[in-house]
Amino acid sequence: MELDKMDENDWKYHGEGNKSLVVSHIQHSRVLRLLKYPSEDAENTHQIHEEVVYIPFFFPTKQTTEQAFQHILNIVDYSRNVMKPLLGEKYVHSGEVVKLPLDFVRKLSLKIQQERPELRCDKVMDTFSGCGLCLPNLTHLSPCHFGDHRPPLCVEIKPKCGFLPFSRHVTKECKRKVCRFCMHQHFKLANGKWNRLSRYCPLDLFSGSKQRMYIAIKNLLEEPQNNLKIFKGGELIYSCKDDAKQQPDLNELVQHLWPYFHHSNGHQSSKTVLTEFIQVICSALLSTGDSNRSGEQRKMQLSDSRVLCEASPLHRDLLRNDVPIQSALHMGALHPYTWQAVLVFPKTVSLAKILQAQMMDNLDIEGLYPLYKRVEQYLEEFPKESEKHVPSEDDGSIEYAVAKVLQYRVAMTAKDCSIMITFAPCGEDEKLQPHLEIQPTKSRFAFSVSILDLDPKPYESIPHQYKLDTKIVNYYLKSTITTQ
Ligand code: ATP
Ligand code: MG
Ligand code: ZN
Ligand code: MG
Repeated sequence: MELDKMDENDWKYHGEGNKSLVVSHIQHSRVLRLLKYPSEDAENTHQIHEEVVYIPFFFPTKQTTEQAFQHILNIVDYSRNVMKPLLGEKYVHSGEVVKLPLDFVRKLSLKIQQERPELRCDKVMDTFSGCGLCLPNLTHLSPCHFGDHRPPLCVEIKPKCGFLPFSRHVTKECKRKVCRFCMHQHFKLANGKWNRLSRYCPLDLFSGSKQRMYIAIKNLLEEPQNNLKIFKGGELIYSCKDDAKQQPDLNELVQHLWPYFHHSNGHQSSKTVLTEFIQVICSALLSTGDSNRSGEQRKMQLSDSRVLCEASPLHRDLLRNDVPIQSALHMGALHPYTWQAVLVFPKTVSLAKILQAQMMDNLDIEGLYPLYKRVEQYLEEFPKESEKHVPSEDDGSIEYAVAKVLQYRVAMTAKDCSIMITFAPCGEDEKLQPHLEIQPTKSRFAFSVSILDLDPKPYESIPHQYKLDTKIVNYYLKSTITTQ
């Protein structure tokens, strides 16, 4: 990529989240991730000085080009030096900061504007700093896997928090029984963020049990919200509709998937196509991706109390002993024993890595918030004190508080990241390294798994997290009191 010869016509709109907008190159397997900031600030910023921009920190603050560059550099450093060692080399691509010509960025911003979903247009792309992050396009597979005419499929999942808090600081009993995602659903529905409750429960996805993972993905497909996107050949083919009232069309998805799960020996129903598709996703998520797996695999085991979310529809169906769910699975019965006991997976699996990082939040926001206040107070009194040793128990020291706050920030990032599973069919005679191949069904696929969106979460958002937690829990208790 020649930075001085950038042409907006070589790039197209790819997608966006709350903090950044992504464009992809039309030929090379590259994306550019650009910052966004609240649109009402845009005009003001422009008037003040072109070199001054707003960067989407928790509280937007004025930034010069140099500061914007530094901000993206921090994102790269954090991803590379903090998250990558925790999540594993093979899953994380940290990218590199680039300085782009302002003329290119402005033309690009105009070009892509009409393709942006309406619900994201409360923010605008940063066209002032010219700074961006260049990353490999993870919706593609590396060229060595080509050889089939069918473009790669890519499933992006934002799994959210996969465990129930186990901290002794938790005051509301319901937080030990119902997961944050499921509680948050009620709050989001009440606030008009979404129109339907999702049946997805992160605890199912992180369970390590194939049956529960299958159901989690099936529920994501039925109500993707912002937790699931599907790409084909790098193009978005399935996600939540811009008009939140509309449901995405599963039949349309099946039409896309059919060529990948069509076998010469018989007719495939829509249901079988979806079943096979979900099985491929599960297998990729459960793969260790390790070419030289040595000896015994260390397993991650959660105690029973942490793995069941009482709000998960699956859990409710199970309590009612709902047989239709079991038969719909085509994968053997969900025996209560399997349900509770087979909740382990190898520690090198991407989901296990993410869960481990999430569980660094071992105090819960309720236990963490007082430590945050301790740090705040300390910073007021001694703004320049250097760090000392870190005690493992709370001895009332500032060192303990600082260490816990940093640990909590890592967990926040892991609770907000996405996993991308990209796969493409490979021919009968194609030789693949064993770790790059999955054959859960009749089709053979080459695949890769990556973890993305590993930005540091601002220290300043901790009080917000504390308030939000109280709101969500209180709203959940209030709204479910009649049904309990
Ligand atoms: P969030 O609101 O989830 O925090 P964000 O603003 O931090 O999102 P990202 O999640 O990093 O932004 O990127 C937005 C979207 O762009 C992703 O959901 C994904 O679909 C796409 N994307 C990001 N990075 C890549 C990549 N390297 N390859 C392909 N697609 C990508
Ligand atoms: Mg994201
Ligand atoms: Zn749940
Ligand atoms: Mg993000």
